[in-house]
Amino acid sequence: RAKSEGRGTYRFFEARMGVEVRERRLLEHDLRHAVARGEMHLVYQPQTDVGSGAVIGFEALLRWKHPERGFVSPAVFIPIAEESDAILRIGEWVLREACREAATWPHPLSIAVNVSAVQIHSPHFVGLVHEVLLKTGLAAHRLEVEVTETALISDPNRALLTLRQLKSLGLRIAMDDFGTGYSSLSNLRSFPFDKIKIDGSFVRSVDSNEQTAAIVRSVLGLGRGLGLPVLAEGVETEAEFGFLAAEQCHAAQGYLMGRPSPIGQFSQHTHGTVPVTDENRKR
Ligand code: C2E
Ligand code: MG
Ligand code: MG
Ligand code: MG
Repeated sequence: RAKSEGRGTYRFFEARMGVEVRERRLLEHDLRHAVARGEMHLVYQPQTDVGSGAVIGFEALLRWKHPERGFVSPAVFIPIAEESDAILRIGEWVLREACREAATWPHPLSIAVNVSAVQIHSPHFVGLVHEVLLKTGLAAHRLEVEVTETALISDPNRALLTLRQLKSLGLRIAMDDFGTGYSSLSNLRSFPFDKIKIDGSFVRSVDSNEQTAAIVRSVLGLGRGLGLPVLAEGVETEAEFGFLAAEQCHAAQGYLMGRPSPIGQFSQHTHGTVPVTDENRKR
């Protein structure tokens, strides 16, 4: 009896895996046409200076509205796009769209764009960034490229070369999701980062969990020692924000200051109509 049950379970898994593989293939197929069919758009999330409460820039986050499935999370479709190289076309679209948008904003505001490993390792990437900056007229120092450590480890020498070439264009490079995945302190020394983004999983409950607090404090100390500003992601509560302010974290991003939204939502900042004060920080 146990035996037949075991086989049943096996068949169940086999069937499920079949569905998942098929699902992936369907999404992979649809992803190839998603940009051309106008199914992709960007939302923007404010990044705030913790000391003054001023909005200092926005991170562009990709959204895909599938014609039948509705919104598919980037956490689901980005890895699929990365496997199939569709990420190159999608990533190029993101870069053009985000820089075109940011070029219309008042000057100090910056734009952060997520870039995947496949893009970093593409021989055309640096040239593409250069071309997009020229074409959109966005000053290079207003562009920040966000990379995760996983994007660098497969071919660290090549990644280092690319990051150096990017920096020579005048843009900045942020290490995204610091503290997760393959993060290793040696990456901070080996690669020319301009900023550390602490992953939201370390920011959650930082005000009430002593271990989390100790980790965040040590990352802030690391940033100070290396002369790198630190941005905390995923800030949801006043208590978390208060902790970060007390610990002199430079910048913060999260639902507390603003959810990722269409840029029109933030027109008071991007058109400079309302002075940035603490008062309207949370609007
Ligand atoms: P990420 O770059 O680390 O982006 C931060 C994620 O945290 C975003 O998820 C954002 O919506 C979410 N978030 C922001 N504030 C809060 C908060 O207060 N609480 C919580 N719980 N979450 C918050 P999203 O938009 O689903 O994106 C997920 C990931 O997908 C991104 O993580 C990034 O790695 C990737 N991604 C998004 N857009 C792009 C893109 O254009 N290109 C590439 N290569 N990757 C992208
Ligand atoms: Mg990011
Ligand atoms: Mg992140
Ligand atoms: Mg992430």
